[in-house]
Amino acid sequence: MLESPLLRDHLSRMIKRLKKLLSSKSNKATQGKATQGPRRIAADSHGLHPGTISHGARDVVEKLSAAGYQAYVVGGCVRDALLGQHPKDFDVATDATPEQVKTVFRRARIIGRRFKIVHVRYGREIVEVTTFRAPHTGSTSRSPDAHKKPRKRAEHSQRSDAGMLLRDNVFGSLEEDAVRRDFTINALYYQPEENLLLDFVNGLDDIENQTLRMIGDPATRYREDPVRMLRAARFAAKLNFQMDAATLAPLRELHGLIEEVPAARLFDEVLKLLMKGDALSTYEILTEFQIFTHLFPDTARAMKDNDAYETFIRQALTNTDLRIQAKQHVTPAFLLGALLWPAVEVLRAQHIAAGMPPAVAFNKASAEIIRREVQHIAIPKRFSVPMREIWDLHLRLSNRGGNRALQLLELPRFRAAYDFVLLREQAGEDLGDLGDWWTTFQEADEDTRQQMSAAIKSGPRRKRRSGRKRSAQPTSP
Ligand code: ATP
Ligand code: MG
Repeated sequence: MLESPLLRDHLSRMIKRLKKLLSSKSNKATQGKATQGPRRIAADSHGLHPGTISHGARDVVEKLSAAGYQAYVVGGCVRDALLGQHPKDFDVATDATPEQVKTVFRRARIIGRRFKIVHVRYGREIVEVTTFRAPHTGSTSRSPDAHKKPRKRAEHSQRSDAGMLLRDNVFGSLEEDAVRRDFTINALYYQPEENLLLDFVNGLDDIENQTLRMIGDPATRYREDPVRMLRAARFAAKLNFQMDAATLAPLRELHGLIEEVPAARLFDEVLKLLMKGDALSTYEILTEFQIFTHLFPDTARAMKDNDAYETFIRQALTNTDLRIQAKQHVTPAFLLGALLWPAVEVLRAQHIAAGMPPAVAFNKASAEIIRREVQHIAIPKRFSVPMREIWDLHLRLSNRGGNRALQLLELPRFRAAYDFVLLREQAGEDLGDLGDWWTTFQEADEDTRQQMSAAIKSGPRRKRRSGRKRSAQPTSP
């Protein structure tokens, strides 16, 4: 039995764990006042206990500790738990390299290039495990194979001429990991086994004072990674926190750096900005700091010339927030479709004014706006194709005479197209009560439907909308 490799392995882990516990206890004794290093705070005094943390995150921390590594729950989940909100996912930070993490878990996968991380799967839960990272000039930093190939260090960390980080795989100590995080409230480390919080940057005070504060020099940190500007807007909106003055000031100058961020990353970030239930307040911050115009330049231009489009966008965002809060389904295709619609409509009107037939003008305008937008935000085809179908179908909903209404009702995008009509009407456009007509039609029995269809003259209805400039008026809704 004693010769069993499993038992030997188990014993050696137990010894490592005991050694670690002893050293952390003596650390605590010497760092009681913690003038240097982190503040160590009993987590229960802040309402945190191991039960607040998901089963997966607890298990990851436990197994990494048992294997002799440091491991903490960190980031947004600790922040949200301290604020009494339900964390949506859990991140763990460790001194184990991704390869080492992978050996500890059966269901682990290394992903990413800019940041190499490990996903550990527990049924439907995925715990994201990151190795402590260092700042890029740090002398104590270690890269995964720095001891073997020092000249390879440059491959693990890269910076552009403008100071932007292109790659960030330089591993470091726990303390270094804390200061390379973005905001103080996102840099709290929680050790569930000891029920202890580690605070290197006064994040707890900022949580208490509801302040969003960048770690380090804000302008440098925004230059390193301009996505931090989007994250600032997102957290200020989501948490309703005040931005510290120094954190806020550079935004007015540096917003243009958003254009440097790869379009694929911006797509992910834009979804996080707009699909979390705080889209309207996030949009207001993005507009205030001129960031919105770098994300949706054609829409921003259309809005400048026509206030009605501002109302439309706000309505779309409000509806999205309400749906998310009510746990209803939202699709990026619909929301992005709404965000780009003003641009499509303006261009379509220009083409029509230049003599193009409306259907051709719409096809050309929608293709052109998508082509331009994906250079900023890489909307994948799985969203841009349905987006175009929603635009197209909602325009065809006015042409509903004869058998057409029943046929339209059967189309897979009908519901989204109908919602798009409702959205435009809700935002104050006069589409000839088209939304009401379709609402009644869907609820009606067969006879009523036939009467309704018969009462419609065939051919598209041509209706003027109120409150729009002449140039922006389409010939159908
Ligand atoms: P959310 O609630 O949206 O998940 P989050 O803070 O957990 O918010 P994540 O994107 O999951 O955000 O990132 C996890 C943690 O990684 C953050 O809390 C922060 O400490 C760090 N982080 C993420 N992105 C950056 C960045 N661009 N720069 C520095 N640190 C970052
Ligand atoms: Mg998170």
